Amino acid sequence: MKIGVLALQGAFREHIEMLRGLGVETVEVRLPEQLRDLDGLIIPGGESTTIGKVATQYNLIEPLREFVAQGKPVWGTCAGMIVLAKEVGMAGHAVMRQPLVGVMDVRVKRNAFGRQVDSFETDLDIPEIQNGDKTPFHAIFIRAPLFETVNANVRALAKLDDGTIVAARENNLLATSFHPELTHDPRFHQYFLNMVRAARGTA
Ligand code: GLN
Repeated sequence: MKIGVLALQGAFREHIEMLRGLGVETVEVRLPEQLRDLDGLIIPGGESTTIGKVATQYNLIEPLREFVAQGKPVWGTCAGMIVLAKEVGMAGHAVMRQPLVGVMDVRVKRNAFGRQVDSFETDLDIPEIQNGDKTPFHAIFIRAPLFETVNANVRALAKLDDGTIVAARENNLLATSFHPELTHDPRFHQYFLNMVRAARGTA
């Protein structure tokens, strides 16, 4: 199993360290041909406009769409979640015109928590990754997006106390508003690796 981490901008090193700590072969992806022999891909947090622009310059947008169409699992964290969404808004902008891979049937709102609560941390109960374990997942939000709408084919995995969806899955796509790679808790990465194993038919 080989997992790529899109390494154009943002927090890609932290994902790579977490995956290597789990004993997984991992590569930094910058070129379309590097996608060819991957079993799964992570699009990290950072700045979604920058990631989208650089991905466009590197001719990565179409190959990324094809990667998803092949059924290969892709996980977007924070800016990565924005890049995966079909539709993006932000305060004062009904629709953001920014380059997106645009494959997940959701509308997300960028910088959704406003300036006062720019960044925050909270414990979330996420049954699907906890496997009966009572320990909640410590979620770190940094100028985070949220899901404004998720269509019927998308399943919410985690919600804040007020019902805001902050993690969701649609078939081979996983998206989180927060940053599991900035914790020492590998359960989200293990969950993604299980998606990859299932897609490879080796679960
Ligand atoms: N605010 C960033 C954006 O809109 C995302 C922040 C992050 O990835 N931590 O792209």
